[in-house]
Amino acid sequence: RAEMNDVHVSCDEGAKNVRFLNPVSTFDQAFAPYPEILDELKRVGFEKPTPIQSQGWPVLLSGQDLIGIAQTGSGKTLAFLLPALIHTDRQPVPREDRGGPNVLVLAPTRELALQTEREVQRYNYKGIRSVCVYGGGDRRQQVKAVCKGVEIIIATPGRLNDLVQAGTSLRRGTRRASGGSFDVSSVTYLVLDEADRMLDMGFEPEIRKVLLDIRPDRQTVMTSATWPIDVRRIADKYMSSPIHVVVGTLDL
Ligand code: ADP
Ligand code: MG
Repeated sequence: RAEMNDVHVSCDEGAKNVRFLNPVSTFDQAFAPYPEILDELKRVGFEKPTPIQSQGWPVLLSGQDLIGIAQTGSGKTLAFLLPALIHTDRQPVPREDRGGPNVLVLAPTRELALQTEREVQRYNYKGIRSVCVYGGGDRRQQVKAVCKGVEIIIATPGRLNDLVQAGTSLRRGTRRASGGSFDVSSVTYLVLDEADRMLDMGFEPEIRKVLLDIRPDRQTVMTSATWPIDVRRIADKYMSSPIHVVVGTLDL
């Protein structure tokens, strides 16, 4: 088995405008300008960033795409989530007028989506609002929450795709959904969490459909525990010059 500290950082051949940045070794190095985040990390009692966080945070805070490959339990959630909160807060328009979510996290299961949403709520960062959207949950309530306004949507691909398609047909008709319903065109930070599991579960068609509606100049993060060909294909098509951070070794 590979050591957790066995870390490899790379980019694709022909990648454009990639900036390799120094990893951070403390929370302060990454989040000095964001005391609320530092306070919460201190309160939770974490000592230092995990390798994927240490390498991933500078990449994401600089606006670059990231592929983070590391085994389960290595801290991938906070690796993409804290930069997501900062990304949302950095949007120039006052949140109230922004008209739509800025961050979309796609996750393979309802449990994972809910877990990620609990993290968002724990940080309770600057009033950023989130909603969790998953199959089996109350559809109308999920739509209502989004219509009231959220900055972050955490969703399983099947249900999200359902609601986006429904929102699209509403907007095409004469009736307008209040607040634009499930319009993901305002998303500028997209996370494909546990991409390998999502593809194993057969979500590839839904993922591809949802991605058609998200602006191409977004920032994209992908996490995975493995790096099989179908995951690589999605990365090649939907990410732009991502930096790869691999913790441990890959069985290719
Ligand atoms: P992954 O997504 O890689 O499977 P998670 O993000 O779910 O892993 O994190 C696994 C556990 O590690 C969680 O309980 C999380 O709270 C904890 N954790 C995250 N970051 C740190 C850290 N820097 N130090 C200690 N524990 C951490
Ligand atoms: Mg995870």
